[in-house]
This record gives sequence, structure tokens and C-alpha cells, in this order.
Amino acid sequence: MRATSLLAPTLREAPAEAEIISHQLLVRAGFIRRVAAGVYNYLPLTMRVLKKIEQIIREEMDAAGGQELLMPIIQPAELWQDSGRWNVYGPELFRLKDRHDRDFALGPTHEEIITSLVKGEVSSYKQLPLLLYQIQNKYRDERRPRFGLLRGREFIMKDLYSFDRDQEGLDVSYMKMYHAYTKIFKRCGLTFRPVEADSGAIGGSDTHEFMVLADSGEAAVLFCGNEDCEYAANVEKAAQVFKNEKEKEELKPLSVKETPNMRTVEQVSTFLNIKPQKIIKTILYENEHGVVAALVRGDREVNEIKLLNALGCLRLDLAGENTVKKATGAAVGFAGPVGLKGIKIIADLEVAALVNAVAGANKGDAHIINVNPGRDFTIDLLTDIRMVQAGEPCPSCGSELKEARGIEVGQVFKLGDKYSKILGATYSDENGTSKTIIMGCYGIGVTRTMAAAVEQNHDQDGIIWPASIAPFHTVIIPVNTRDSSQVDLAEEIYGRLWSGGVETVLDDRAERAGVKFKDADLIGYPLRITIGSKAVAEKQVEVRVRKTGEMYLVPLDQVESVVR
Ligand code: ATP
Ligand code: MG
Ligand code: MG
Ligand code: MG
Repeated sequence: MRATSLLAPTLREAPAEAEIISHQLLVRAGFIRRVAAGVYNYLPLTMRVLKKIEQIIREEMDAAGGQELLMPIIQPAELWQDSGRWNVYGPELFRLKDRHDRDFALGPTHEEIITSLVKGEVSSYKQLPLLLYQIQNKYRDERRPRFGLLRGREFIMKDLYSFDRDQEGLDVSYMKMYHAYTKIFKRCGLTFRPVEADSGAIGGSDTHEFMVLADSGEAAVLFCGNEDCEYAANVEKAAQVFKNEKEKEELKPLSVKETPNMRTVEQVSTFLNIKPQKIIKTILYENEHGVVAALVRGDREVNEIKLLNALGCLRLDLAGENTVKKATGAAVGFAGPVGLKGIKIIADLEVAALVNAVAGANKGDAHIINVNPGRDFTIDLLTDIRMVQAGEPCPSCGSELKEARGIEVGQVFKLGDKYSKILGATYSDENGTSKTIIMGCYGIGVTRTMAAAVEQNHDQDGIIWPASIAPFHTVIIPVNTRDSSQVDLAEEIYGRLWSGGVETVLDDRAERAGVKFKDADLIGYPLRITIGSKAVAEKQVEVRVRKTGEMYLVPLDQVESVVR
């Protein structure tokens, strides 16, 4: 590839909306251009990186027994109604109508589609286990699309679904994926940690998030400082472990003025606009202000966040102070221990205009709605509920816990019979008995992984791509393009490197060398080969390593072997 024909428009300045470094650098280095909030053009350099990440993912999915397929982005509402998610998924689901006024959604995830496919095609135990995956665009109308490719509304995801005969089979599939993910993120050159995560209201299920460690990460992760101990969890999960195992104390719902007025599940489901079968148990409390509290227990989709969506609430996270400031008059919801911190933020800020918050612990039966600061709780109610912090003893080995920020690049999840049961995906076993298929789902954000790599690998001059996912391995820079001996030598090495399989850019632009060096650093080619008059005279080129800045003088006949 010659720089004169490469569409990699570099910029001196990042756009004002680019808050974090990966967003700034990917725009400045000519990888992405914004089309709408959370929607981007992926320019040629991005495509090369994405293809490499996807190739690594494909190899590891295939090695683990996965089969690739492709499912539609446009999904009929009926499937989502059947699974019960049409009403509970909330505003994150992009909905559209066809010319006959039929409802559709743009797939944010594919459990419904794939479960119904497998339901139709699998009938016998002999066809299981089955691991099916795709790499495809996903659509989520995120409340705050931001951070460039890290939180888009259109993004690329690899999603795999496992189908097994029973829980033991699922355990095997889950471990296969867990190990495959570990290999994938290693091969991508990333520093990451698998952490125990919270599986939501359904409880008991295993789930791990794969976190790329970076200061800009939206999630807080606690991990054990003892290198031999593997304990690591996101803060929500860690708080649960502490409550359950260390303090042996249930998380109590915040105290409310109780004038209990029990309602039926049907009344509550109407109130929350959730299908009755999604609600396992509810109690609403009312007082003279109306409903002040709801204790709701639902299945996985009726966890905090989905519940908040159903209630039309905003969600606050740890970085939520700005949301609070902006949210005057709106109902605000909080989820889990994070939510408790959110309440503290409100109390601290004395945002009197805020009414009708949702608060609760990160578990079933511990959610309350229409909570009003000052009226329904005071700050001292918070004293017995606290976040687990770095410095406290590890629940596994007792060593000191450390905290880091992380970007969730992947998640593995044991679904059990959640979708197969409700959609009726069954198989018959050796005795002809009909049984429900047991499922797992496993996602990797491909575009997010690319941005996370930049977040973790950069310096003040630009991106430093890990070699395995770099758009090109090497850039050749002739210092003076008017000197034909330099150009000829650059062309010769360029040809030789490509024949040797080294993906190379020849910067043949009639620019000053300084401009080319700056662009090379910004784009982040792992190696730079400089060809000046000395190279021609002394028959050796200067090879510079982007990451360390080290320079080597390499004799012409050894260039391929050094660069490769
Ligand atoms: P988050 O907690 O960041 O909202 P999620 O838990 O909702 O992510 P999953 O449903 O687990 O995401 O999807 C699997 C993977 O898809 C995530 O681990 C992440 O890498 C990626 N992903 C999810 N949402 C987005 C997004 N808006 N933009 C880019 N990648 C995303
Ligand atoms: Mg999400
Ligand atoms: Mg998540
Ligand atoms: Mg997730």
C-alpha cells in the first residue's frame, strides 16, 4: 500500500466530543469518521484491524468446536414477544415497522433468533452439543453513546451460543469459551482480567466479564493483590460476596414509610408494563404520596437496569454525578450497591428537585421505586451499607484487594433454560424423553476490543498497535522523495517486504520527512524504516521500534529477517 493511495486522513486536532484517548486518536489517525451519535464509518485502516481481530476470534472459536453462521439483523417482534423481551428490553431496542405496519427490531443480541432456529432443526440428543456463532453488526440505542467505538449504537460483536443436553454439558461449553476468550485477548496483545460478574436477579448462574484494564474504563474491578490468588470481580459482584460470605448479612432494602398495600402480580405488571410471567413476586408500598416503594423479583431481564428502563428511569452509574446534575425533575434510578453510592451522591449534592428515584440492592426483592431523598431516607441509613474497597481483605485468600478500572470487552454467561424453556427448544434423549436444551451465550465486542487496544497502547505521539492486530506491520519512509536513489531503494525494499509477507506501507507522499514521521507515530505502525542518503551510501537502513523508540541500523540484505 502506498500512502499516496491510502485513505487515512490524519488530523492535527481531535473533535471536541472526543473525551477519551482512543476516540481522539482513532479520529486523528484517520481510522474512523462519525456519521451520527454512536455510528461511524470504518475507514480502510480500521477494516484491516477489525479483520485481524475477527480472524483471531474465528480461529479460536473454530478450535473450540464453534461453527460460524449468520443471522439477520432485522428481527420480527413476534419472537421478542414470545420470549417476553419485547416489553422489558426498553428504549435500548431499536424498533421499526415495515410497510404493512408490522413491528421489527434491529438485533441487539440474538438469543431469540438462534433459539428458534435450533428449536426447528435440533430434535435429538445426537445433535448436541452445538456451538454456533456469528460476527455481525449489533444495534443498541444506548442512552449515552460515547467514547467513539467503545460505546456505539451500531457496533460489531461476535456472539456464540452453546446448546447442551444438561448443566454438566453447559459447564464444559462454558469452560471452552472461557479458555478461548483468554487466548483471544492474549493473542490481541491486551492486558486483561476475567472477573466474576453479577448475573442479575436470576441468581446462581455463572458469568464472567473480560476486562481490558485501562484508567478510562467505565467499570471498577477488584482483584486480589496476591499473584497466586485468582480472585477478581466487578464491584457489584464483590459487594455481594462480602455481604453474603463475610458479613453474613442480607442487603436490606432502604427503609421506607410502610403503608403496605399489596397488589396483585397482574396489577404490578400493568404498572410496570412487564408481562406477568416475568415477575416472580412483587410488593408495592403506598403512602399519601402514592407508590413509594416496589419490591420486585423477576427473571434476568427484570433486573435493576431493565426494571429502571421499564419505569422510564435514567440509570446512574459510578460516574453519575453529571447525570444527577442534568436530570432535574426526571425520575432517576439506581442499581445495586452502585445505586447506593448514587443515592449518596444525590444526598451530597442536595438535589432537591430529584423525585421518585429507584433504589435497591443488587438482588431480588430489594428494589424500591419512587424514593425521595429526605422524605424516604436520610443519609445515615447508608452507614451499614457500603462499597467494598481496595485495601480490604480478599474473600478468597485474605490478601489485600486492589482496584483497577476496566473496559468490558467480552462476557460469558450461563443462560440455562431461560430462552429454550419459554420458546420451547427441546430434544429427546436416549429414552425418547423430551428435555429442554440448556444454553449459554458468549459475546465479544470486536469494535470495542479495537478501541480498548488503543486505550491501553498509546503515548503522546499516537497509537502503538500490538503487532498481531496492527493495520500494517511496517512503514517505509524515504526522507527525500526528490532523490531518486532513495526512492528506488525504498521501492526495492517495499517489494521485497511484501513478497516476504510483511504488510508494508510506502510513504511516497511528497511531504517533509518530519510530517511523515509524525503520521507514522500517530497511526502506530509497529516498525518504521527510514531511507535517507546515508542508507543509500552505506547500504543500511534505520529501523525504529514504535513502542520503545529503539533504533537499529540494519544492512540491506537483512531487512526482511529483522522486520519479520
Ligand atoms: P456494557 O456493560 O458496556 O453496556 P453489555 O454488558 O451490555 O456492555 P453484552 O450484552 O455483554 O454487553 O455484549 C457483549 C459484548 O458486546 C460486550 O462485552 C462489549 O464488548 C460489546 N458491547 C456491548 N455494548 C456495546 C456498545 N454499545 N458498543 C460497543 N460494544 C459493545
Ligand atoms: Mg449494555
Ligand atoms: Mg456489561
Ligand atoms: Mg456484558
